Amino acid sequence: MPIKNRFAELLPDITEWRRDLHEHPEILFETHRTSGVVAEKLRGFGCDEVVEGIGRTGVVGLIKGKGNSSRTIGLRADMDALPILEGTGLDYASKTPGAMHACGHDGHTAMLLGAAKYLSETRNFDGDVLVIFQPAEEGGGGGKEMVDDGMLDRWNVEEVYGMHNWPGMATGEFAIRSGPFFAAADQFEIVLTGKGGHAAKPQESVDTTVMASHIVIALQSIVSRNVDPVKQAVLSVTSFQTSSNAHNVIPQQVTLRGTVRTLDAEIQDLVEERLKTMVETQAAAFGGSAEVNYMRGYPVMTNSDEQTTFAADVAAKVSGSCHDAPLVMGGEDFAFMLNARPGAYILVGNGDSASVHHPEYNFNDDAIPAGCSWWTEIVEQRLPLAG
Ligand SMILES: [Zn+2]
Ligand SMILES: [Zn+2]
Repeated sequence: MPIKNRFAELLPDITEWRRDLHEHPEILFETHRTSGVVAEKLRGFGCDEVVEGIGRTGVVGLIKGKGNSSRTIGLRADMDALPILEGTGLDYASKTPGAMHACGHDGHTAMLLGAAKYLSETRNFDGDVLVIFQPAEEGGGGGKEMVDDGMLDRWNVEEVYGMHNWPGMATGEFAIRSGPFFAAADQFEIVLTGKGGHAAKPQESVDTTVMASHIVIALQSIVSRNVDPVKQAVLSVTSFQTSSNAHNVIPQQVTLRGTVRTLDAEIQDLVEERLKTMVETQAAAFGGSAEVNYMRGYPVMTNSDEQTTFAADVAAKVSGSCHDAPLVMGGEDFAFMLNARPGAYILVGNGDSASVHHPEYNFNDDAIPAGCSWWTEIVEQRLPLAG
């Protein structure tokens, strides 16, 4: 059972949908056109129920199988684009300057639409399938909003599955791992206050620039000295802004910003606690004060063992084999759905493309038949018809 023949037939249509979405990227929760296109197509396919406005601009479609089972599984795609100026030069490049499908969510949406079309046509499964199209994966927590809106309870979704394209892996190939997979992505902002003054009279000031420089270096010791060396953590200070641009002023304030990535709740707690302690004590040591705002973002995305084994088996049937995926220090808000229900998230090869979030990235339409086949096999094998 490799690629389904139906997806060879549907490939031109699905490719056209993908390129139309690519041309009209929308950011965060502003996926109004995209959500409208998705809802219209789902209705056209004959989904039993299509509901818009879940998690603000999310859309779901319910497809009932042939049997009487009350089991429901959820298949999720993300729809949002990124605030990037497209540099692909494609004839279907973004028509909205400063917005671009640079993470392939156009491809994810098109593949799940293709799967929904097939499942509505064939219904060779016993139970219900909820196809879930979410906004705001790129930092807005659209997946959380859909869960908070009661989506999983409303349709009694028992398991959830997700997919992301992966540059650098051949199209048609898959990779997955059980347990923690994508990192928790937290942000911090540190405001250091000292005493501004004349740069030629440092003895009368509390120099926030020197204080902040020590703190940037000290923070690096959290990962190297406090975190168990066999566990993973990243702490990056990404912004260092003083309140003065002058050559002769010691700035009153410095603001530091950055991100923390962890794959384990204990390590996440440890890094947060150490960061606060380190900043406050260092600031005090230099005679200043610190305000630390530590903001937890997407939690660790953890694949369930049973569903991961199943998802890998299906991928191996579609593609011949399924690779072991690496740990990813990026964040993924499918984590909120996987925290609420068991399930699995898989990577599908995007071939030799630029990396996601690069202005020259493009989703590879050659991945569509494999992606759609995986989606539909998940359903037909997880909710098998009797006999
Ligand atoms: Zn992304
Ligand atoms: Zn993405």
